[in-house]
Formats: sequence, structure tokens, C-alpha cells
Amino acid sequence: MTSSQPEPTTTDAGIPVASDEHSLTIGPDGPILLQDHYLIEQMANFNRERIPERQPHAKGGGAFGTFVVTGDVSAYTKAAVFQPGVETEMLARFSTVAGERGSPDTWRDPRGFSVRFYTSEGNLDMVGNNVPIFFMRDPMKFQHFIRSQKRRLATNLRDHDMQWDFWTLSPESAHMLSWLMGDRGIPRTWRHMNGYSSHTYSWCNAAGERFWVKYHFKTDQGIECLDQAEADRLAGVDGDYHQRDLYDSIERGDHPSWTLKMQIMPFEDARTYRINPFDLTKVWPHADYPLIEVGTMTLDRNVTDYHTEIEQAAFEPNNHVAGTGLSPDKMLLARGFSYADAHRARLGVNYKQIPVNKPRCEVHNYQKDGVGRTENAFEPVYAPNSYGGPRADPSRTGDAGSWHADGDMVRAAYTLRADDDDWGQAGIMVREVLDDAGRERLIGNVSGHLQAGVSEPVLQRAFEYWRNIDKNLGDRIADAVRNGG
Ligand code: NDP
Repeated sequence: MTSSQPEPTTTDAGIPVASDEHSLTIGPDGPILLQDHYLIEQMANFNRERIPERQPHAKGGGAFGTFVVTGDVSAYTKAAVFQPGVETEMLARFSTVAGERGSPDTWRDPRGFSVRFYTSEGNLDMVGNNVPIFFMRDPMKFQHFIRSQKRRLATNLRDHDMQWDFWTLSPESAHMLSWLMGDRGIPRTWRHMNGYSSHTYSWCNAAGERFWVKYHFKTDQGIECLDQAEADRLAGVDGDYHQRDLYDSIERGDHPSWTLKMQIMPFEDARTYRINPFDLTKVWPHADYPLIEVGTMTLDRNVTDYHTEIEQAAFEPNNHVAGTGLSPDKMLLARGFSYADAHRARLGVNYKQIPVNKPRCEVHNYQKDGVGRTENAFEPVYAPNSYGGPRADPSRTGDAGSWHADGDMVRAAYTLRADDDDWGQAGIMVREVLDDAGRERLIGNVSGHLQAGVSEPVLQRAFEYWRNIDKNLGDRIADAVRNGG
């Protein structure tokens, strides 16, 4: 509060208004008049305050920060943002997947981990998760998967039978489920989880050599998780627990950070590697491709306007800069369309003119007009032209990941390689990564989930699914569900 006079309230046109409290009427008790333009403007704007929520990843929050390069990966990428010592402004958004905008933060779910680097060469986005893998490898199944996680038509309830029906008919989900049902399925906070690109991307160095890469953002706060009982309690008493934690920790100067490390595969290895390196349901074992440090992301600035800075933030895999690029991962290529299309649907065709989505470098192209356009930069409005408009420069594009493709047009699964089965990496995870206590919690989480509304034949299929991952584990889950054992 200041002692000076407040600014006068105005209409959106800047015209001072007569009252913040009283509408215009005929006499104190009379009817409201249509010419009360300010009242009508307020009611109309209020009715349009909500925009469609994201489908999925509706519930989330984020913050701004800085990325500082501490390593030297210039042998692998020419991207300016990853050159030694470079500092770049960033935005990060964390989210749950299936819940709506008001849903509790602590539901068991993967967490979105989206980051944007506002680089000198344009925006570089990574639309990742806190999990290095995903439920499927073909985008044809994605829409069906999300519907199975959301609400049923008749009951408007989320439904475990529907979820397990889809999962057990989609064995490629086994690796992801062994994660989701384990401890990391409910992070303690967004600060206490890793972020992964999950997809394989490409890098290209100044000499034109290409590499396949995976991004790993390792939390410097350490991994911490919530058990099911604590997560359920928090969902009741503080549905915004993760949002509150991030905001409060940044406000008190406790700035969370993540170390970015890369797995880097020489381009030619992809042809013969024992695992299809573009299959989103698989990791590259660290022993094959160890982590190489790049730098540190620190979040140190809360947003001041959630709607314009987070709700309208439009991350997309198409945003990759020179020295970085896509890969032949089918899911990634489909996301190239679906993210941009989702933004057009939610925010309008000119969503990249919203300040949070604007690059920090100049934009030169021939796009013009459309809903929400705030600036049309150029005459002439066409190319080629004789009047000095911008010209494409292939040497500065982000298409690092060109690759060879040949064959007939088909609808088919990826060609199987030696270690491409659906159960293998899930089994390694259960037997070799989890300790005894972690396996017990996994059994408890799965059996608890199955006991909440899953019926035959889905239930029996679920036992077989877990037996395929690990025979003993599946037997224990079946016993726990059937006999309370
Ligand atoms: P490593 O032993 O080198 O790595 C095991 C990984 O598992 C570590 O990165 C660790 O992450 C992570 N981890 C530890 N506890 C859990 C848990 N409760 N839930 C989920 N992840 C956990 O082995 P490999 O690289 O050979 O991979 C073996 C298995 O580990 C894989 O099949 C996969 O399931 C899992 N994994 C592999 C990753 C990879 O990129 N190679 C990444 C994450 C998991 P942290 O170091 O952060 O604690």
C-alpha cells in the first residue's frame, strides 16, 4: 500500500470508469441499463477467462531460471547454447498427466518435465518426463492410452479396470509400469525428481558429424518419493502440494537445480545396436552409453502471472536449434505435429507472439495476420522477392538428425532386434535396480491398484503381465490380490 492516490479504474480502452461497485440503473431500485458498457465488458471478459486446459498434462506449474554450461560437449554439438561457459535463460514446467487442472499433485502418475532454453539461435524445447521411457512406441495408440487414463463416459470416474485393460493388452507398457508402480511413481516434490528427454534426439557438431543423444536432467536435491499413504493424505489436505513447494522454495531463496547429462551414441551405432535406439519404451543401458555432463539448470525466478507465463507456455519438440534435431522415433515425429496443433487449438495460431513463447532473438519470416496477431514485421509479404525480405540459410537450421530411410509404405511394428522384447528391461529394473524393500512396495502398490475395481478377465491378464516381467513378482501380486497374501 502506498499513501499516493491509486490509479483510476479504466475500461480496456483506457477510459476512466464511474464506479467499481455500482451498476448503472434507473433510480437506486430500478433496472440495469444496457449502456453500462463497463459492466458488460467485465461480464463478457469474465465468461472468457478460462481457456481450454491441456489435454493431457493439464495440472502443472513452473518457474524461470538459467542454464550454465560447465562441461565441454563441443565435439558433439555446435549448438551455441551448449558451448563451454554459455549461460541461457530457461523456463521449466512440471505437471501430472491424467488429472484435470484442479486435480491433486500427488496422484500416482508420470510427471511432465518440459524445459525451454531461450537460446541466441531461437528457442530449444524439450518436452520430457520424469521417466526415461513411455507406455508405447507408436503414436497411433497415444490417444487411446490417454482416454483409458481419463474418465469413463457414464460414470465420469477414472477407472482402474479401463487402465489395466489397456495396459495388459499393450505389453510394450511393461517397462513404464514397473516405474510408475514403484517409488518414483509419486515424487516427493518436483524438485526431487529427474527429468529425461525419453526420446532419442540428434546432435551435430561444427564438422557435420552426427550423433544420437538422450538428455538426462539429474536432480541436485536427490531423489525423494512419497509412499501411497502419504500421497493419499496430501491429496486430501493440500492438492497443490507440489506447486506450493516449488513456489515457496524459490521465494525463500532455496533454488532447485538439475545437472544435465547426456548419453551420446555415434551415428552409425544406431544401425547395429542390440536395442532399437529409437524405441521409446527402452533405455540405453549406462554401461553402453555413459552419462556425459553438460551443465546446470537452476530455477530462481517464480512467475508473476500464472496464466500468461505457464498456462500459455507452449513447449514443442519442433523447437530445435542448429546442432540439435529430431530422430526417427515415431512417437517424437508425431509429437511434432500434435504439440503445435494443440497450441493452435488452445491459444490460437499466433501463440508464438505470446511473450513467454517469443524467442529472445529476432524473428524473420513471411507469416502474417490471423487471430491474435500483434505484429506483422515485413514488406514484402512473399518470397522470392526483389525487395530485401529474409532468405533461408540451410547452414543455420536445426535439422541435425537427417537419416536414411527406404522401403515400401507399411503399417508395421519396428523391426525387432536382439534385445527388443517388451519384458526384458522391465525385469532388469525389478530384479537388479530395486532392492527388497522397493520390490515389496511395488507389490503393495500394484496389488492395491488392482484391488480397486479391476475385474475379470482383466485381473487375470494383469497377473500374467507381471509374471512375464518377473515370475516371482507376478505370483506375489496374484497372491496378494486373491488371498490378501
Ligand atoms: P544402471 O544401474 O546404470 O542404472 C539404473 C538406473 O535406475 C539409475 O539411473 C537410477 O537412477 C535408476 N533407479 C534407481 N532406483 C530406481 C527406482 N526405484 N525406480 C526407477 N529407477 C530407479 O543400469 P542400466 O543403465 O543398465 O539400466 C538398468 C535399468 O535401470 C533399466 O532397465 C531401467 O529400467 C532403469 N533405468 C535406466 C536408465 C538409463 O537411462 N540407462 C535411467 C533410469 C532407470 P538414479 O541414478 O537417478 O538414482
